[in-house]
Amino acid sequence: MDRVYNFSAGPSMLPVSVLEKAASQMLNYEGTGQSVMEMSHRSKEYAPIIEGAEALLREVMEIPDNYKVMFLQGGASSQFTMVPMNLGNKNKKADYVITGQWAKKAYAEGKRYLAAREVASSADKTFSYIPALTKDMFDPEADFVHICMNNTIYGTRYVDIPDTGNVPLVGDISSMILSQKIDVTKFGLLYAGAQKNVAPAGLTIVIAREDLLGNAMEQTPTMFNYVTHSENGSMFNTPPCYNIYICKLVLEWIRDMGGVSVMQQINEEKAKLFYDYLDSSSLFKGTVEAKDRSLMNIPFVTGNEELDAKFVSESKKAGFVNLKGHRSVGGMRASIYNAMPKEGVVALIDFMKKFESENK
Ligand SMILES: *Cc1c(COP(=O)(O)O)cnc(C)c1O
Repeated sequence: MDRVYNFSAGPSMLPVSVLEKAASQMLNYEGTGQSVMEMSHRSKEYAPIIEGAEALLREVMEIPDNYKVMFLQGGASSQFTMVPMNLGNKNKKADYVITGQWAKKAYAEGKRYLAAREVASSADKTFSYIPALTKDMFDPEADFVHICMNNTIYGTRYVDIPDTGNVPLVGDISSMILSQKIDVTKFGLLYAGAQKNVAPAGLTIVIAREDLLGNAMEQTPTMFNYVTHSENGSMFNTPPCYNIYICKLVLEWIRDMGGVSVMQQINEEKAKLFYDYLDSSSLFKGTVEAKDRSLMNIPFVTGNEELDAKFVSESKKAGFVNLKGHRSVGGMRASIYNAMPKEGVVALIDFMKKFESENK
């Protein structure tokens, strides 16, 4: 079996042991004579899967009891709408920090439903840094502050969580969920599309503080009201059953590795190897301010578009796929989520060194 090292920003690699387990259970899940794909979501066989996934998520992320966990569909992009419709209910005002395309899209959607305000932006330098944020910058009357914790396209992340006082903080954690410890209590709501670090595309995880729910805007569609899902155990309608099952297997894998803190250690090691190499290379360089570097997504360039293209093409032939950068940044981007083994990062760095020596 020849598997490639897949550096895609998403959908992305899943742990091999998870894929193997899913394969072994494909036709007959634990003696039920069916695949999880074929099961009724209301069956007694399925209940322990979704309940187990939630329990494990609560365990590894240390989610307090006063937060609801929801397994939804619609991607992180639907949350750009659900957040303002559900939380923008007091003063109809919200503050957004613009650190990239996803933050921008969330802001654009927020503007459709409330008085959304851009508090700070790093657009002036192609989103290569996280703007400095202080409490006095936020409107104390805002219903929420929205940030994108890890900017998948540009490769920046918040190292510190901004202090928004009493205003609930909403975090898009699509590309960093489960990669490092997150103090959930600092947030009113967290959301993530699963396809970067948790499961196949089609599952969206929402973690919301209970007291923020139940006051959605009048016109909110039933399916976009958090209460619809939080009061029905994510079973108001058919949830993405199979994705939740894979999510559970991934969470078991994380737990067995030692939990999120061990995951974080490994991710810090992998990222350090990569950044140290970029900092020492005379051909490749990183595009992001060092203090704001992401652990998950690492954009880099040679400064020469032809050479970038040559690198992408040669790396692909050598079994390192999806290294082409996002069209808005150019160059290359290596996404090294939880499931990318350290050996994959080491092998890529070795390949880059070789390429560097051959292209002086
Ligand atoms: C990928 C991504 C999204 C979009 O997710 P979908 O599930 O495709 O809607 C939103 N925010 C961030 C930070 C992402 O990385």
